[in-house]
Amino acid sequence: MLLSKEQILKQYFGYDTFRPLQSEIIDWIAAGNDCMVLMPTGGGKSVCFQVPALMKEGITLVISPLIALMKDQVQALRANGIEAAFLNSTQSTSEQYAIEKQCHAGELKLLYIAPEKLFASGSLDFIRSLNINLFAVDESHCVSVWGHDFRPEYTQLHILKAAFRHVPMVALTATADRVTRRDVLKQLGIPEARVFEASFDRPNLSLNVLPGRNRIKVIEQFINDHPNQSGIIYCLARKTTEDIAQKLRAKGINARHYHAKLPPEERSKVQDDFLRDDIQIMVATIAFGMGIDKSNVRWIMHYNMPSNVESFYQEIGRAGRDGLKSDTMLFYSFADWMMRRDMIESSELPQHLKDIQFAKLDRMKQYAEADHCRRRILLSYFNEAVDRDCGNCDVCRNPRSKFDATLAAQKALSAIARTDQKIAMGLLVDVLRGSHNRNVTERGYDRIKTFGAGRELRAEEWADYLTQMLNSGVMDVAYDEAHSLKLNETSWQVLRGERKVQLVRFESYEEKRKRQEET
Ligand code: ADP
Ligand code: ZN
Repeated sequence: MLLSKEQILKQYFGYDTFRPLQSEIIDWIAAGNDCMVLMPTGGGKSVCFQVPALMKEGITLVISPLIALMKDQVQALRANGIEAAFLNSTQSTSEQYAIEKQCHAGELKLLYIAPEKLFASGSLDFIRSLNINLFAVDESHCVSVWGHDFRPEYTQLHILKAAFRHVPMVALTATADRVTRRDVLKQLGIPEARVFEASFDRPNLSLNVLPGRNRIKVIEQFINDHPNQSGIIYCLARKTTEDIAQKLRAKGINARHYHAKLPPEERSKVQDDFLRDDIQIMVATIAFGMGIDKSNVRWIMHYNMPSNVESFYQEIGRAGRDGLKSDTMLFYSFADWMMRRDMIESSELPQHLKDIQFAKLDRMKQYAEADHCRRRILLSYFNEAVDRDCGNCDVCRNPRSKFDATLAAQKALSAIARTDQKIAMGLLVDVLRGSHNRNVTERGYDRIKTFGAGRELRAEEWADYLTQMLNSGVMDVAYDEAHSLKLNETSWQVLRGERKVQLVRFESYEEKRKRQEET
């Protein structure tokens, strides 16, 4: 006797009700149709193919690129009493053989398989010999070069639909903008498939961007303000994770680092300790978190800016899965953005892919530099219409006041002119603040008229204001000339006093904090 979807949800997963869209998606798939499921991380995608798998005779094939997670996913299913197994290249021949035998005996309901295994010789014949009731392509954005995590081995997946025309296929992802999603469906050979799109809004996550200065101090302060809260600090470099974890431990904070180069035993130990709350804070590269289902992560910090909004959203999505209030913080400086640009520029990618990456990076920068509701920016990225401000991002909470910054702008622009438009932002700040460092003195910049003309502002204020000037078109930057700043028509109008410059007043973390306490 086959069970209904409600019975399956209750009996195997222990839940009484479906989340929005789950029920519709399951009906659609159970009726033999193809579709794409777009849901944020933690939204409950797995149920969408695991329940249909159990509703019918036969076996569901789950194609997943995350070999490291297959074991956990399968274990979780087994713990719920669902017969499942995985096949990938890390297994011995005899292990693989044993699983194939189970498949033939009809003992399994779900088989997780890595794409490279799927297309190994003989595999297609093996699949043909099974009674497949559904193909589920997990992390399906990997099919598309437009996605942020393209995997060449995924491009062969169109073979499946060609060879098994009557088997329904579901493509799942947490991250696909409109272009990517169309491409994914095309690549999979199901261009007409219906797209189910759950809301990406996670209203319980507060969104904050902090100036990328004195990061360690700010982190420490934040942790002290939020004792015993579980959190993750994402960093770009492995070395940084080690450094920060160590610095925090030196302050008596229970922090550890995690990255892909740790020995496997240590990795799983650290991960388990974090899940069990024996480690409070994980300082990690993006290697950490894929598929980690810890419901009480209270905050996520990005020590470095991610290279695209999809990754960012996926990473902050690991906070507050229990639905309780949680915080996200992104450290941002203009220099971070330039570094990311340089990384793309010097990568081996062909130009057209570089251009995609640049465009994605720019969207990330727009988020970081937003002067209106950040959630609206995020959600509009995922094509979600929002008609009002969220009230739970730093911009909404502190509508920032603008001031007349014409004089400061004139000083900066004049310094750029007097240094022949050859200096980048960091050096310009030194010149304005009158720093006698070698870079300045060697070039004779300590002898120009504007040297030290901007001492009244701190370096972090200058960095912030110069970034705002760039964004509002008061000056330009030449990426191909070591990021040197350039004057444009607007710059000259400002210099001649024909145009005023309004900027948003800078606020450090401490100032922000104080003001929030007062209000
Ligand atoms: P995703 O794959 O979209 O990141 P998961 O499928 O891992 O998300 O689901 C996230 C969490 O939500 C899991 O702990 C899962 O058991 C839970 N979940 C899924 N569907 C439901 C439901 N209908 N009711 C309650 N919890 C659910
Ligand atoms: Zn907002």
